[in-house]
Amino acid sequence: MIMPKPQGMTGGSSGAGLGRRAAASIYVLSTLLAVAGAATTAWAMPRMSLNSAVEVPWFLLFPALLAASHLSIDFEYRGQARSVAFSQLPLALGAVFSSPQTLMITWLSAVLVDSVVLRRQTAIKTAFNFGLAFAEAGVALLAIGSLRPDGPDIRLWLALLLGFLVAEAISQLSLAAVMRLAGVPMSLDRLMEPVTIATGSTLVFTCLSVVAVAAVWTEPLVAFVIVVLVMTASLGYRAHRRLIVQEKSTHELYEFVKDLGPVDLSLDGLTDVLERVRTLLHTTTLDLALVTESGSWRHLTVAEDAHAHLVELDRLADLTAEIGGARLRERDSGVSDRMSTPLLGSQGVIGILSAIERAGDVRDFDMGDLRLLETIANQLATAIERGKLLTDLERAATTDPLTSLPNLTEISRRIDAQLAAHDGVLVAAMAVDSFREVNDTLGHQVGDDLLSEVTRRLHVAVPEAQIGRIGGGRFAVSVPASHYSGDPELLGLALRAQIEGGAQLGAVGTHVRLSVGCVSGPEHGTEAESLIRRAETAMYSARHAHGGPVLWEPAYEVQGQRRLAVVMALREALASGAIGVAFQPKVNTLTGDVTGVEALARWTHPALGAITPDEFIPLAEASGLMGPLTTTILRQALTAAKGWHRRAGHVGVAVNVSAETVLDQSFVTEVAALLTSTSTAPGMLTLELTEGVVVDDPALAAQRMQELRNLGVKLSVDDFGTGYSSLTYLKGLPVDEVKIDKGFVRNLVDDPADRAVVRAVVDIAHTLGMRVVAEGVEQEDQQHILRVLGVDELQGYYFARPMAAIDMAGWLRKREARAQL
Ligand code: C2E
Ligand code: CA
Ligand code: CA
Repeated sequence: MIMPKPQGMTGGSSGAGLGRRAAASIYVLSTLLAVAGAATTAWAMPRMSLNSAVEVPWFLLFPALLAASHLSIDFEYRGQARSVAFSQLPLALGAVFSSPQTLMITWLSAVLVDSVVLRRQTAIKTAFNFGLAFAEAGVALLAIGSLRPDGPDIRLWLALLLGFLVAEAISQLSLAAVMRLAGVPMSLDRLMEPVTIATGSTLVFTCLSVVAVAAVWTEPLVAFVIVVLVMTASLGYRAHRRLIVQEKSTHELYEFVKDLGPVDLSLDGLTDVLERVRTLLHTTTLDLALVTESGSWRHLTVAEDAHAHLVELDRLADLTAEIGGARLRERDSGVSDRMSTPLLGSQGVIGILSAIERAGDVRDFDMGDLRLLETIANQLATAIERGKLLTDLERAATTDPLTSLPNLTEISRRIDAQLAAHDGVLVAAMAVDSFREVNDTLGHQVGDDLLSEVTRRLHVAVPEAQIGRIGGGRFAVSVPASHYSGDPELLGLALRAQIEGGAQLGAVGTHVRLSVGCVSGPEHGTEAESLIRRAETAMYSARHAHGGPVLWEPAYEVQGQRRLAVVMALREALASGAIGVAFQPKVNTLTGDVTGVEALARWTHPALGAITPDEFIPLAEASGLMGPLTTTILRQALTAAKGWHRRAGHVGVAVNVSAETVLDQSFVTEVAALLTSTSTAPGMLTLELTEGVVVDDPALAAQRMQELRNLGVKLSVDDFGTGYSSLTYLKGLPVDEVKIDKGFVRNLVDDPADRAVVRAVVDIAHTLGMRVVAEGVEQEDQQHILRVLGVDELQGYYFARPMAAIDMAGWLRKREARAQL
């Protein structure tokens, strides 16, 4: 008889999981089997033709049948436990050498004792095993009764073979029916699987039985020899099998440990590992409960014939209830097919690993299994911790810690994925304009709060978008082109409309303003990297265009390349001394006397041609080249001024200085050193500062200006009227001169408003004791009006264009000579 081990009759689920209806059906089936057994036995009884001289009494038959039923030969076949019960042998002996009723009563008693006392099976299992045993033995008797053999001959052999094969078929079919009722899907394959083994073993046992019957027929004592032989063979096999199983699991464990890398903590990753552990432990169900960061429990179960399922539990109590409760239930029924062990990480318990129901059910878990589980749990704990570490590292590499948004690398990867998955994408780069200032003036904490607030608004504004922080106060946003009608500027507008506005950051109220640049892929780029870069280029232009959104154009690229080329060339030019200076005179409005000259940087590049200061000065500022540039202009200007003479003595020279340079502490010392090295009287030098200096940091500006003034140099405020400053800024600052921007001079003749501005500037400057200079004077009329308005000095093409130092010397000589005429 070949059957799944009796406990296995309920398949993958434990007995407790059987529904009421299924249980009832199994009882009905068991009853039917028993009735069939009784009927066939009754039919066979009067037809038994064997009359042997030997009579085997029930008390000898009983232990043989009990041993045969209990000590089945266990083995696993395709992962399913199978057992060949060699009860066929004693059954055959009983059929020949006992009366049918003795045989049947003894056999059924043996099955009951085995099931109830030895195996402690549930009522339903006992009932089923009883019914099945009844039917099987009945069929065997039926075959003998039909073929009527009268000794150990070919007919007996045929009768036994036929009887046992039919019994086997009944056994397989009933088991299949029970499996189905228990909810285990039974495919035809699975049904046919044991048939091959069954047929083979039935053949072998039938032959063996006939030989045994023949032997006992002639010599009854041989029965004992047979019993001893079979018992020894069976016990030997069992010991051997245990050894093989142990060896196999040691090898499997070794393979598992060898392959076990850091565990990928995703559902798929964990399922894979658990599935391996499950196979390794030969269990039907494996359960892993992991403590999550938030202290809740992530509870993953993999089971044979079922999808892995994941449950999040709030408290450990829920978990212990789930696992522990089940374990207690099993304990009560006397079956220990469940074992658990903690996963010990470096910082304590990180989880619990539980194996539930040993697969195959050849035997229940024993100490060896528990040790194996513990070994695996140790390995698993380490692997999971390493997996966690890896996840953390990966997270750190792809996520911005402040906003938890993807960083530049990660958002690029995601945009590339979007490009691959959609027809097109819209990408916007946006800068929070006030971020730098907030950071510098209100502190990093408020700056961080500002970014967090912007991030929050972004999530609300564009929930469908991929959002990343690409540095400082800059973000990248990307949506498939199916949004915003495929118009990147609409995306930009949406961002501004929904994110800009007042923001309360703790006690500080501020205003969020954005610069937005946008592109659409694949038109503007087929890779995330170039799309983001171009969106950013457009974003920088947006700063000047009051926020934008500005759509990227190829021209930006050309500009960018030109800028880069200019910066590189400028660096070289400064190193090789290729930057020159031109000088433009200022004259006294009333007397026409030259009051000084302004030094203006000049640069002609051999390849790029003449580059105007308006182009290279901002680039020098941006690329940190302003320091060396100012130094070379200052030195050249002071040196050139030595060569100019006039009646009144030396001619004063004015040099333009950028805001950043003025605020730099070392600048004061540098000016002093240059004055000394060129032995120039400090009063000969005027520094022209733009009003931006004062606006950015009034206190520091005032301090630096005072330090410069203390050297004895004069200070002039350049481009007056173009910036945000008002004359009130000038109050209290050590300023000698105000230069009215040429913008006011240009339309002076036609525009009364400009005239009003100039008049006001003159009035207030004079009240504050400052001289007023007008620049950009090109016409006679302008000169006339400026004189009437009270401007002290004039500068412009009307008098002279900027010229080389040597020409300046000549111009000065000529003008002196003319004045003397
Ligand atoms: P700025 O300080 O306002 O210099 C006057 C600019 O007006 C010069 O332009 C000059 O050539 C131009 N200009 C003079 N007279 C007239 C006129 O009648 N009509 C018109 N339309 N323009 C006139 P330039 O040399 O191109 O310099 C432009 C700006 O570059 C300067 O404006 C100044 O801000 C900056 N710059 C020039 N050299 C230096 C320097 O060595 N250091 C710094 N920091 N800035 C400089
Ligand atoms: Ca100037
Ligand atoms: Ca100017």
